[in-house]
Amino acid sequence: MPETTSQTPLRVALLGCGVVGSQVALGILANPIDLAARVGAPLELVGIAVRRPDAEYDPRIPRELFTTDVVELAGRADIVVELMGGIEPARTAILRALESGAAVVTANKALLAERGPELFEAADAAGVDLSYEAAVAGAIPIIRPIRESLAGDHVRRILGIVNGTTNFVLDKMTTEGLELDQAVKEAQALGFAEADPTADVDGFDAASKAAILASLAFHTRVSINDVAREGIRSVTAADVAWAQKTGHVIKLLAVAEVIGPVDDGEISVRVHPALVPADHPLAAVRGAFNAVFVEADGAGPLMFYGQGAGGRPTASAVLGDVVSAARRRLTGGKGLRESKDQAFPVLPAAAAIARYQLRLDVDDRPGVLAQVAGLLADHGVSIDTVRQAPSQGDVAHLLITTHAAREASLAATVDAVARLEPVRDVVSVLRVEGA
Ligand code: NAP
Repeated sequence: MPETTSQTPLRVALLGCGVVGSQVALGILANPIDLAARVGAPLELVGIAVRRPDAEYDPRIPRELFTTDVVELAGRADIVVELMGGIEPARTAILRALESGAAVVTANKALLAERGPELFEAADAAGVDLSYEAAVAGAIPIIRPIRESLAGDHVRRILGIVNGTTNFVLDKMTTEGLELDQAVKEAQALGFAEADPTADVDGFDAASKAAILASLAFHTRVSINDVAREGIRSVTAADVAWAQKTGHVIKLLAVAEVIGPVDDGEISVRVHPALVPADHPLAAVRGAFNAVFVEADGAGPLMFYGQGAGGRPTASAVLGDVVSAARRRLTGGKGLRESKDQAFPVLPAAAAIARYQLRLDVDDRPGVLAQVAGLLADHGVSIDTVRQAPSQGDVAHLLITTHAAREASLAATVDAVARLEPVRDVVSVLRVEGA
């Protein structure tokens, strides 16, 4: 059978021409013949929406394409690519595009995590695709593998390093012994962190991605408000050094998992720093790289690794979505929908289950360890290992790793331990994941 081909161009509208948008524009403008061959029809860039049309953009992008009328442009294309970021006007423009029957491609994790249900319903109602491969982990193909390749399997758990800035910062702390502030400054100097690093350091960016991954993996709707979030601000150089001494590295993880039966359980979705065993594949993810570790019933463990940000890597994922959407437009049909057939309840943060490592400074005298261990047992938290570091003066340093415990039990235990007379300080409490 001959391949479907058409000489009529498919109109592509680009909303945003920044770090990613400019690379997408160049990708479309520079490779017309390759793209036409893959799609089966030429792609025509019909307009690019920006705020400042007179600003300096790449000279290879024709100036006559620029407009400030985002919503008007969104209504006159076959494929609308949203790369502005933020909630508005991105949301209104995407809804306008979907209503007009255009397929939409976006990399906007913040919008998807906050308004995903509204947008997916609009795409369903219009019978068109809403694709977002670049919204999680930049260049790494992770959305399509979870949605399509694993559609016949059951995902149990996802552990993701989905924020390159915090991974860079924690890696610097590990390799150079820096404190957090110094490592953030270095990340800013090298362009890996924003002047205001809040979205990354406090885990908001990773929480958006966790919500998107959990929704897809568990065929349900998880919003950013369902994600328990803790950033890396409290991680110290001493925590990192202790992690190394005990054969771990500290990573900011996005965790999404089913607790209980895969068809009738609950899900826990959270972002927090965690101790990862040094021999776990995620421990080897260095610098600003991202990785997503997926555990599925049939497939077993899978790891997806690559560049999570940057203009060209992110544009690669966007262009993949554009070509797929264009191809489907030509051949008819729609890609796999976002399924929401599993109404999994999302566990509140206090009910999440994890293993913990506690570091305590205690009086160096007989009986203290037994007292602490007894208190943990009273709260139903069972101890896996205890290690005592050489004492400094009359202070001993205890390192206690627990078996899996509910966050609420652990918090109550830590409160009680802190009040014990021989306990001088609860120095840190960190979850252990991937063991
Ligand atoms: P960016 O460099 O800040 O570019 C944003 C672009 O959108 C600019 O061209 C800007 O116009 C335009 N824009 C913003 N608000 C607008 C408005 N109200 N009206 C018209 N144009 C508007 O952003 P980016 O880094 O390319 O990120 C774009 C999206 O990709 C975001 O959703 C981001 O989360 C996502 N993403 C980015 C990366 C990355 O590595 N950068 C990775 C993964 C996903 P002006 O040119 O006039 O300022």
